[in-house]
Amino acid sequence: MPERYETESRKLLRRLRDTLAEEGAGQERLDRITHIIADSMRTEVCSIYLLRDADTLELCATEGLKPEAVHQTRLKVGEGLVGRVARTARTINTGDAPAMAGFRYMPETGEEVYSSFLGVPIQRLGERLGVLVVQSREAREFSEDEVYALEVVAMVIAEMAELGAFVGDGGTLGQPHQHPALFRGGPGQEGEAQGHVWLHEPRVVVTNPVADDPQAERERLQAAVDKLRVSVDDMLASAQGVDKEQAEVLQAYRMFAHSRGWLRRMEEDIDRGLSAEAAVEKEQSVARARLHTAPDPYLRERLHDLDDLSNRLLRILTGQGRETGAEMPADPILVARSIGPGELLDYGRRLRGIVLEEGSVGSHAAIVARALAIPLVIHAEGITTEALNGDPILVDGTEGVAHLRPEESVVTAFRDKIAMQAQAQERYASLRDKTATARCGTTVALDMNAGLMADLPSLEGSGADGVGLFRTELQFLINNKMPKRGELAAIYARVLDAAKGRRVVFRTLDIGSDKVLPYMKRQEEPNPALGWRAIRVGLDKPGVMRMQLQALIRAAGGRPLAVMFPFIAQVEEFLAAREHLTRELEREERLGHPLPERVEVGAMLETPSLAFASRRFFEEADFISIGGNDLKQFFFAADRENERVRRRYDTLNVSFLTFLGQIVDRCAEAETPLSFCGEDAGRPIEAICLAAMGLRRLSMRPASIGPVKHLIRRVDLGEARDVIETARNRGDQSVRPAMRDWLASQRQGNGA
Ligand code: PEP
Ligand code: MG
Repeated sequence: MPERYETESRKLLRRLRDTLAEEGAGQERLDRITHIIADSMRTEVCSIYLLRDADTLELCATEGLKPEAVHQTRLKVGEGLVGRVARTARTINTGDAPAMAGFRYMPETGEEVYSSFLGVPIQRLGERLGVLVVQSREAREFSEDEVYALEVVAMVIAEMAELGAFVGDGGTLGQPHQHPALFRGGPGQEGEAQGHVWLHEPRVVVTNPVADDPQAERERLQAAVDKLRVSVDDMLASAQGVDKEQAEVLQAYRMFAHSRGWLRRMEEDIDRGLSAEAAVEKEQSVARARLHTAPDPYLRERLHDLDDLSNRLLRILTGQGRETGAEMPADPILVARSIGPGELLDYGRRLRGIVLEEGSVGSHAAIVARALAIPLVIHAEGITTEALNGDPILVDGTEGVAHLRPEESVVTAFRDKIAMQAQAQERYASLRDKTATARCGTTVALDMNAGLMADLPSLEGSGADGVGLFRTELQFLINNKMPKRGELAAIYARVLDAAKGRRVVFRTLDIGSDKVLPYMKRQEEPNPALGWRAIRVGLDKPGVMRMQLQALIRAAGGRPLAVMFPFIAQVEEFLAAREHLTRELEREERLGHPLPERVEVGAMLETPSLAFASRRFFEEADFISIGGNDLKQFFFAADRENERVRRRYDTLNVSFLTFLGQIVDRCAEAETPLSFCGEDAGRPIEAICLAAMGLRRLSMRPASIGPVKHLIRRVDLGEARDVIETARNRGDQSVRPAMRDWLASQRQGNGA
């Protein structure tokens, strides 16, 4: 890089920094900045356009254009060359602006005489703030060095804006992060919450974007990069051979950490006058801007990696960790890109809500959020950049929406919604000790699903008859090493204690597919949902399952015990699993441990094959529970983890209900108790249909028990069955519309 530009650029940045250090209102500072830039770059015009809202840019300061145009000239993002820079976050450099497609003539600014145009985005970490433009009469393209210098200046302006340098009278820059922002993501856990943002990883604040001694900054950068490389190598060494996927991600990290291009660009930024941390942020901003437009998911992943790496580097450089000294608000809503289940459990029930940029419905974090009944929004893209600690926020986990810094009217509407729900909850609470007896006199037993100690208080509060599904794998998932038999026995005993004699169905370890233990070797499989999972692992490598069965027997300590094996696809698997239990019971007896007073051994029906098993299976099983989440995904061949298809088929599809009806009949013939424990059991309309099809025991999230009970008590299940039959005979694809209409007519009929 030519020495002249290097020093020019440094001089310019120094002048900017000095200007910003001076006293003055925001507008004055902006005016001075445009003056300095035009002077230093020897252009007639320098203008700063800032975003007023998500779509509107406003000319906020200018040197060279008509001063009357300031705060008057506005344009839409995407409109004209300036608008295009804002929209694409890419620099435009042309010697003949009027000839460029999209050029928009704005007479009020008097700009027609300027032919060359250089516009660079003002952005901070992918967040668009505005556009910085220089123009000159002379028809020439700006040199690469000039472009680069202006980008560095834009970076400093963005950094200063973040620190609030332009706030003040004159209505210049609103402090960033002040506008209301709506994030549309996906629902992770139903429910609404109002509170204040608590950032899981607060962002690094760079207070010194401009530095005087490039050599010293280069050295600081190099030392930090060295440290980063060592830490990535260490992480990689410990992941190697344990977790292939994580090792792959770390390989990519390693590649970036050793990338000469990355380091070189940052060093060039430093030579231009930026401090080491500002240089890291500048490159991070560029990567983030590309992230928003990259269509290729692989490339997006890699850009995410680079982003993570930049954050690590910034933390090394600034010494800023997660601890910022900020105090957690009384009503925290956790905002994070992603979070592990263990970390989430550490926060526990203190959290009112959670908003994640990533995550999936089946992710461990989502499982924990569900267990804790904390409203969760996933895929809220960009929220970690936009939100600041303490910002007011509303979370609608049902709709998958988060309102950051909401307008008063939104808050009011939201509060009404929460109040209505609270009223409904009160109504449900009054039903707590009543049975779910329909108008026809049929009673449906309602159990709850659980998996963590955190679930247990809900047993009392929800009015559940018992625990119909205790997902034992959650204890394994949240640990970073295999739990020991004694630990498990203690946990299971506490579960039974909390149940106070109510029935608890322990499902043995269901891992594989979406549930991968962090400390177990990951098996690469082309299709994990159809792969080596659940009972298949348990039977092929029985060590862990047997240890778990011993723990369960010891936890029971003479009390009744119900064990259920997941993912049974044929009768032999059930018999083999039960044989393990029998052997463990014998062994425990030999060792002198008390045996459970009664042992029930059940199977989960999660594959269609089992519905067609020989009668022997139905007779051998003490009870059967339909795992509707898995059964439905295999019935419709639609992956429950795939956002694209998971909602494509309705549970109330006539074929699926008919299939469930057949399972009910087969269990009835063999007099084997049957329950349903998939998520659908907790949805009131689905629950009515399941009950109408003959299911007499449903197991669901504790929060669903009230609404389901409320609805069951208001209907006649025989009539509901008639509605299903009529819809089926009419050739409806799903009984949902007919069921909805019927329920609505019931409500009117009841005068409700
Ligand atoms: C199911 O498949 O319906 C079920 C209850 O098990 P899980 O969701 O844990 O796979
Ligand atoms: Mg399942």
